[in-house]
Order: sequence, then C-alpha cells, then structure tokens
Amino acid sequence: MSAFVHDALPMRVVFGPGRLTDLAAEAARLDLHRLLVLSTPDQRDLAERAADLLGPLAAGVFSGARMHVPADTAAAARDHARRIGADGCVAVGGGSTIGLGKAIALDAGLPVIAVPTTYSGSEMTPIWGITEAGRKRTGRDRAVLPRTVLYDPDLTTGLPAPLSGTSGINAIAHAVEALYAPDTSPIIELFAEEGIRCLAAALPIIAVDPTDRDARSQALRGSWLCGACLGATTMSLHHKLCHVLGGTFELPHAPTHAVMLPHVAAFNLPATPTAHAALCRALDTADPAHALADLGIAVGAPCSLAELGLRDTDLPEVINQVLAQPYANPRPPTHDDLETLLSAAHTGATHLVSRPW
Ligand code: NAD
Repeated sequence: MSAFVHDALPMRVVFGPGRLTDLAAEAARLDLHRLLVLSTPDQRDLAERAADLLGPLAAGVFSGARMHVPADTAAAARDHARRIGADGCVAVGGGSTIGLGKAIALDAGLPVIAVPTTYSGSEMTPIWGITEAGRKRTGRDRAVLPRTVLYDPDLTTGLPAPLSGTSGINAIAHAVEALYAPDTSPIIELFAEEGIRCLAAALPIIAVDPTDRDARSQALRGSWLCGACLGATTMSLHHKLCHVLGGTFELPHAPTHAVMLPHVAAFNLPATPTAHAALCRALDTADPAHALADLGIAVGAPCSLAELGLRDTDLPEVINQVLAQPYANPRPPTHDDLETLLSAAHTGATHLVSRPW
C-alpha cells in the first residue's frame, strides 16, 4: 500500500429531509445568538424561512449574494453584519452564497453555518474566492470552513432539472480528480467512489422527476462525499481547465465542468489504473469516460464549449494559461494533447480521445 497523510477537516454534518427545522438548535449548540442569514436574491424566501426558524437568534437577512463573490458584495455583506452586531452567518444556497459566507468569515472572523441547496460542495472545503476588477483571487484557509453543515434534501427539490444535472456532474468531477490526486488517502478513495455512485444513480432520476425525494437524498449525500474529496485533496487538469474557462472566458461554472469531465477522464484514466478501476466500479461500466459522457446526455447537460459561448479562436489562450502554471496531473499534457482535448470538447465530439499512455 502507498504511503499517505490524511488530514481530517473539523466539521459537523447534520443530514436528512426536514432537518432545516434543526437550524436554531444547531446555532445554539455553537453558542451563536445573532445570525445574519445570507442568500441570493432568487432565494430570499428561503432565507426568510430560515430566519423565522431561527426566531430570536436571527439578526437579519442579506439576500445580495452573487456568482463568484464580487468584492463589493462581500464588503456590503460584512458591513451589514457589523451594523447589526451579528456573531455568525447562516449561508442558505449554492456555492455563490456559501462563498459569500466564507468571504465574511475570512475578513470579519464570523463563524458560518452552511445550508447547501446545490451540489457544488463548497460547504465542505476551506477554499475561498473573491472577485475584484475581473480577477478571482482564491486561497485555502481553515478559518472559512463552515462549523456546521446542515443538509436538507427537501431544499433541493426546487433546483431546476438542468441545473441539478450540471451541478451534480460538477460534484462528480471533484471526486474523479480526488481519486488520482497526489494527496489522496484511503478514506478519500472510499468517499469518492461512493459519492460518484450515489450521484450517477440519482441524477438521471432527478432529470425526469426533480421532486423525487429519494433521488434528491441520494444526490445530496453524494455531493457531500464529493465535496469532502474537494476539500481534502489537490485538484488537477480538469479543475485547472475549468478555472481558466470560467475565470478568463466567463463560461458558466457547473455546465463547463459537465462538458469537460468526459474528455479529461478519457485523457487521464489510462495513466491511473487505480482511479480507472474505482470509476468502473462506481459507474458499473468498463468505459468510465464514455459513461460520464452518457450521464451528461441523460441529464440534458450541454455537450460542447461552443454551446457555452467559447470561440475556437479562444482555444490557444486557454492552452497557454493551462501550460503556464505547473499543477499535479497523472499524465502531464503537452501542447498537442491540450489542443486535441480542447478541440474535441469545443465541438462536442462524441468519440472521446483516449490515447494510450
Ligand atoms: P450558485 O450558488 O451560483 O446558484 C446558481 C443559481 O441557482 C442561483 O441563482 C441560486 O439562487 C439558484 N439556486 C440555488 N439553489 C437552488 C434551489 N435549491 N432551488 C432553486 N434555485 C436554486 O451555483 P453553484 O453551482 O452552487 O455555485 C457556483 C459557485 O460556487 C462558483 O462561483 C464556484 O466557483 C463556487 N464553488 C466554490 C467551491 C469552493 O470550494 N470554494 C466549490 C464549488 C463551487
């Protein structure tokens, strides 16, 4: 067996349908008495419901969370928290809202309770990001880790089917890259395999019936495990490509992951037999890269970068940026490798390029 280090992240996880009603008890358990509830404008109603459930422990609602945590939004939320004397935040929503909670934790030191309503997995990671003047700064800091994560699958039944599918594949991508991460560990390998198995089983059911409660529970359980993989390991080529595509070309986060994952898997898996074997088991297939492409089709995810608005003339810049900074990957890609991989992803080629390693 290979040597490993496993550094467990200290978080309490409360999971189950209807568990939002435990919010006040969870806040009291952390000795928090004046909570600011955060959400996007779309999820204001849910934030108000959370504030009602907190009762006297709620100090206010800030519903201005936006994608990629703009610095001015973070400053406005932090000032609001200071004005009302908040001693903590409850972030109710997807990665954008949880990201806002983390930005306040980083700057003002307020503890966060996360109530995730997508499958992004941000709630399980010490990774923060703030965008200023078009550039997203990111970092890792344990101070931003939510103290408690309350998963209530009933809160996800309103997540539209297309967003559920791409958000779920975004979560699977965390686990795929954790399987071949340089700092993976036996426990993370177990989390990754089970997380992928749960999501791959649940997402096609949700695509047909977004209100299926069993499938929603299974998907959220999978996204918890996949998020824990993201929090514990170093991501590789797939996340690097998506970071450049999202950061420089403003492609949407989860759909970009859904387009890229089968192509990167086809490229990387020949170089990593252990990850390949785990994916074969999790997806019940002998060809995991094609199974991931089929999953994208089953959930109605976009198939090409062209559909997301990327021009083929943008590809050289993507390649330059990806090659400019070193990062871990089981198979170091050359310029030609990236050109082949990105051209296939751009057109949405159904024949995945899997060159022998
Ligand atoms: P999101 O949080 O931007 O949400 C997308 C939209 O869906 C929003 O309008 C939101 O209001 C709505 N929504 C969320 N949950 C809903 C529900 N249950 N029902 C109906 N509508 C709902 O999307 P996301 O994909 O969760 O997060 C993306 C962001 O998270 C990106 O900025 C990404 O960089 C970040 N992220 C960070 C990490 C990390 O570890 N720091 C991990 C993953 C993603």
